[in-house]
Amino acid sequence: MGNKTYAMIKPDAIRNGHLGKILDCTISAGFKILGAKLIRMTKAQAEGFYAIHKERPFFNELTTFMSSGQTMVLALQKENAVSAWRTTIGATNPAEAEEGTIRKEFATSLSENAVHGADSDENAKIEIGFFFTESELISYQ
Ligand code: ADP
Ligand code: MG
Repeated sequence: MGNKTYAMIKPDAIRNGHLGKILDCTISAGFKILGAKLIRMTKAQAEGFYAIHKERPFFNELTTFMSSGQTMVLALQKENAVSAWRTTIGATNPAEAEEGTIRKEFATSLSENAVHGADSDENAKIEIGFFFTESELISYQ
């Protein structure tokens, strides 16, 4: 199991004023921040990032939403980071997310669900590489 994952705080959460609270939850859950940037994704960047979903019916809605405002992109470190972060954020649909998860607390809908989490070590590496160069990541020993 790897110790890094890729996360995003999505435009709905930032628009709704939850950026600081979500960062607080992230740190309280034991994640170290290796890299963080506040960006505004272009539609083309969102389409590239979510290329794996390009055949899905919600692809246009998703990429329009992800380019609709600010996103914080994050590289996070913790033991078993990918699964630990997915547990911390909860189910994709906030209506199904467990109490105490970030999506349960801060997401508004299935599409505007506050945060992203990579789904495998392999994808975490690819996704971190999409927004960060190696030299931008802090290394903790
Ligand atoms: P997750 O983000 O939990 O890994 P997916 O990879 O399945 O979920 O989907 C990527 C993102 O696409 C979701 O986080 C959500 O923003 C959006 N999404 C997923 N399913 C739907 C849907 N049925 N309708 C609209 N948006 C969706
Ligand atoms: Mg996913």
